[in-house]
Amino acid sequence: MSEASIAGRDLDAELTALEDRFGADTETVLARSEQIELAARALPDEAVQVRARLLQANMHRRAGDVARAARMCWEANSWADERAHRPLLARSHQMLSAVYDNLGDTATGLEHALRAVEFLDDDTPPRLRAVMLVKLADDLAMAGSPDAARERYRQAEEIALGLADTAMLVTVLNNFAYAEYLAGDFERAWAAMERLRETTDRAGQRLTPDAVDTLARIEIALGRHGDAARTARANVAEQAAGGGDDIDSMAEFLLTLAVAQRHLGDTAQAQDSLDECAVLCRERDLAGIGVRVLQEQAELHAARGEFARAFAAHKEYHAAEQRLVSRERAAQARTRHAMFETAEARREAERFREQARRDPLTGLHNRRYVDEQLPALLARTPAVVAIADLDHFKRINDQCSHQIGDRVLVAVAGLLLEAAAAPGFAARLGGEEFLVVIAGPDDAGAALRLDELRRAVAEHDWAPLTGGLPVTVSLGVATAALGSDPSPVLARADRALYAAKHGGRNRVSVAAH
Ligand code: GH3
Ligand code: MG
Ligand code: MG
Repeated sequence: MSEASIAGRDLDAELTALEDRFGADTETVLARSEQIELAARALPDEAVQVRARLLQANMHRRAGDVARAARMCWEANSWADERAHRPLLARSHQMLSAVYDNLGDTATGLEHALRAVEFLDDDTPPRLRAVMLVKLADDLAMAGSPDAARERYRQAEEIALGLADTAMLVTVLNNFAYAEYLAGDFERAWAAMERLRETTDRAGQRLTPDAVDTLARIEIALGRHGDAARTARANVAEQAAGGGDDIDSMAEFLLTLAVAQRHLGDTAQAQDSLDECAVLCRERDLAGIGVRVLQEQAELHAARGEFARAFAAHKEYHAAEQRLVSRERAAQARTRHAMFETAEARREAERFREQARRDPLTGLHNRRYVDEQLPALLARTPAVVAIADLDHFKRINDQCSHQIGDRVLVAVAGLLLEAAAAPGFAARLGGEEFLVVIAGPDDAGAALRLDELRRAVAEHDWAPLTGGLPVTVSLGVATAALGSDPSPVLARADRALYAAKHGGRNRVSVAAH
């Protein structure tokens, strides 16, 4: 293995390690993945480069710049698509799935999650397979397909158990429990939570605060209000003791506690918890939880028998929810617009790219296209390559006009196009010199077609353009075996063309092998 590919493999492994650091701060991961991208570019290892950019996209997404994440994901996706690079097709679809979920377009999110899984194969690392199955399961659960979701969670759990990967298993069971909770199947949610607890106990770990919050919610749903209040209170206390730097989570846990306390009949304590939560929501502009605080306030008034206040709070809740929905819709529309502009810009760039590879006079491909595409074509197929040069073209310019000369070139280009069917092509190399590439082995068919081309030019009705002046073409032909380097092939064709000119013009000369 070369040094470059060893270095590429090391960078790849570091990307895997970075991806696995759940909850690592986005700035650090972003900075490191940018360095990895640069290192991969220097190698060069394009696949690692693209993978590093996907990781950056995920960090931008998490930081709220969804439009930028979307753009980077689509770039990676088209790179992988052009090369049928399955691992990066899987990863880019996975990331696009998260992007569309963020946009509130969960149907498209689910589509991408399904596509991601389609690109998994026997070479996929099992851990990555499990990550993608969990994402798909989450999206299926959100789309209201609990059975399909369960099956994917089960597969992911099996992989995590097989790998003895506790972190993975915790993720699977945590998301599974939450999905069952959302689906309203609280017994199943409880069972998943039990298994989650067994898993963390066995590993000497504790439930994450988010998992504890889900647990409290499930306890509330199962009517275990005392347990729920204890669970929620412990979670809040722990969050406060830990410095409480994650304010968003703290608000969530306080709300859960308030709900549990209300169910227990501790309306005064419930009001305290709710007030504390409302302050956090205002301070941090947590609109989503803020709306749920209003909803809970209405419930709390009703629990105290204050129905007029409950009704007022309920109306306030509805108004706030409407505002939140339109705010989210506006944000989604802005992001979609940014994504649309990105797609437009990409199409525009492709048009420019295409134009730069065309000859403006004849519309044929130009030398730049030949330089890029001929090596690629010969890597895939043997071919017959011919350089065609107009005979005594100067006479046409001199005796007719330069303008007539141009029109002759355009007409010859049309005849060349007919001779060169895809995947072969015709190009204008410059002046009155053209290239015709016929894909396939050196057979009598190719030689015949080139001689037909010569005859077609000679027999074309040129009288309307040139008066009595004939237009003919000489062709130098060389064959290229599969995998040939284009330069010596073109040099042989050029020598054959020279022979055709010296042999009297208006003829096809084939280079010796
Ligand atoms: P030969 O049979 O040996 O190829 O003779 P020739 O006259 O075709 O060859 P030569 O290379 O001496 O002349 C090529 C001429 O093609 C010279 C140049 O003015 C003309 N030419 C090159 N590009 C263009 C073009 O874009 N339009 C027109 N009208 N003429 C061009
Ligand atoms: Mg010429
Ligand atoms: Mg010439």
